[in-house]
Amino acid sequence: MVNSYYSTMEDNTREFYNFVIVGAGPAGLTAAITAARLGLKALIIEKGEIAGPRPRGEGMGHYPIVDEILGKGYLPSIGLKSNGGRVWHSPGDIQKFTTFKEYDHYFFEWREFIDRFVEVANEEKVKISYKCEVIEPIDEAGFTIGVKYKDETGRVKNVFGQAVLDCSGYFGVIGSKYGINYNDMNCPIIKCLISRANLNLKETPDLQFYFIGNGDLEYSPKFPQSVAYVFPLENQRAEVGLMLRMSQVPQMRSVEVPTKSEILTVWDKLKTSYPGFSTFFKGAQIDYEELTYLPNAKMASDFVPNPGTILIGDAAGFINPFGSSGLYYSMEMASFWVKLIYEELNSINREEDVKPDFIKDLWTDEKIGQYKLKFENTDAFKEVNHMYNLIGAFEYKIFNRLRTSEKINKKWEYITSLLSQA
Ligand SMILES: Cc1cc2nc3c(=O)[nH]c(=O)nc-3n(C[C@H](O)[C@H](O)[C@H](O)COP(=O)(O)OP(=O)(O)OC[C@H]3O[C@@H](n4cnc5c(N)ncnc54)[C@H](O)[C@@H]3O)c2cc1C
Repeated sequence: MVNSYYSTMEDNTREFYNFVIVGAGPAGLTAAITAARLGLKALIIEKGEIAGPRPRGEGMGHYPIVDEILGKGYLPSIGLKSNGGRVWHSPGDIQKFTTFKEYDHYFFEWREFIDRFVEVANEEKVKISYKCEVIEPIDEAGFTIGVKYKDETGRVKNVFGQAVLDCSGYFGVIGSKYGINYNDMNCPIIKCLISRANLNLKETPDLQFYFIGNGDLEYSPKFPQSVAYVFPLENQRAEVGLMLRMSQVPQMRSVEVPTKSEILTVWDKLKTSYPGFSTFFKGAQIDYEELTYLPNAKMASDFVPNPGTILIGDAAGFINPFGSSGLYYSMEMASFWVKLIYEELNSINREEDVKPDFIKDLWTDEKIGQYKLKFENTDAFKEVNHMYNLIGAFEYKIFNRLRTSEKINKKWEYITSLLSQA
C-alpha cells in the first residue's frame, strides 16, 4: 500500500475514487457508467461546461455495447439508418466506384447522443465535475496516483484514484506527460455541417469520398494527400469535411505540413471549385465549421504509459483509420479496461476495502503485461490493428507511390480492387 502521500497531503481532502476519468466524451462516459454499474466509484473531470462540448463523430454501427450503455434500441430511435453505399471518386472526380456494406449503421446529432450518455451517467449517480481542467498526473514512486486539475475558479486541486483513465481525446493530457507523441498520431480534419445542401437524399443516399493526391491542387502543390467527404442527411442537410492523411507524410519530400490557415484556405477553395464535391455547397448554409484533429495516423505506442494510467479512446489513437470511426472503439475499449480493473480488484485480497488507498499490487510490470495481452486479444483491438496495417499499405501504394491525379487515375481499376476489401 502507498500511504505516505495521504499522510503528507496539505489540503486534507483525500478525495479518492476507483477511477479518476479525464474527459466526458464517449470514452470517459462509457468508462464511468460501466464502473458505476459494477459498484465502483468514478469521477469524471471535464474541462467544458457540458459533456463533449464540441461535436465530433455523428455516425456509428449499432453494436451491442451501444445498447448496453445507452439502452436497447436507443441508437435507432435517434438515428437515420445509412444505406451502406460508399462512392469513391478518383482525383478530379474523373472516375468513380461504389462499394456496398450490409451493416446496421446510423447517423445522429452529437448533442442528442452525448446527452443520453449524461442522462444514463446521472441515473447511475456518476459524479461529473464540469469546467475543471486536468493539468497533469500526480506521480508518486513511479505510480500515477491521481491528477491535478484547475477548478472553475482557477484553484488547483488534487484528486486521487486507483486508476487514472485518460479519455481526454486527441491530445491526451496525461498521455502527453508520459511521452506519447500525439503529433505523430494526429491528422487535421475539418468538421462541417451544412443545411439547404444541394442534394436529394433519395437520389444521393450514399456516402461520397473524393480523393485528392499530393500535387493535385495547383494553388497548393505541396498540400498533403486528403479525402474530402459528404455524408448526406435528411432535409437537405449533410456532414461534409476534409481529412488530411498524414501517415505517409514523413516519408514524402513533395509534401509540406500546412499551417492551420493554409488548410482553411484550401478548404475554402475546395468548397467552391473542387470537381463534384463543390456542387453540394451550391446555395448551402454552413451551420458549423471547425478545424480539429483525429488521431488516425497511428495508435499510441503504449496504452499503459505509466503504472496507474490507462489511455482510452482518441487519447490512445484507438480508431478504425479507414472510416475515421472511433465512437464504437472508444466505448468498447473503455468498457474492457474498467471491467478488467474491476476483476483485478476483486482478485486482490483487500481488507482495507473501504480505505482510500492506492493498491500498488495492481500495477506490477507483470500485471501490466498481462492486461495488455488480454486487450490485444480482443476483437476490437484485432480489428483496429488490422485496419491500421491495411491502410498503411493502401496509403503507401496510392498516396506515396502513385501520388498524383494522373497516376492514380491510370491505376484506378487496381485501386478499386483494394477498395473492395476495405
Ligand atoms: C470531424 C470528425 C468526424 C468524425 N466522424 C466519426 C464518425 O462518423 N464515426 C465515428 O465512429 N467516429 C467519428 N469520429 C471520431 C470520434 O468522434 C472519436 O473517436 C470519439 O469522439 C472519441 O471519443 P473520446 O471520448 O475518446 O474523445 P472526445 O470525444 O474527444 O472527448 C474528450 C473529452 O475530454 C475533454 N477534455 C480534453 N482535455 C481535457 C482536460 N485537460 N481536462 C478535462 N477534460 C478534458 C474534452 O472537452 C472532451 O469532452 C470523428 C471525429 C471527428 C473529429
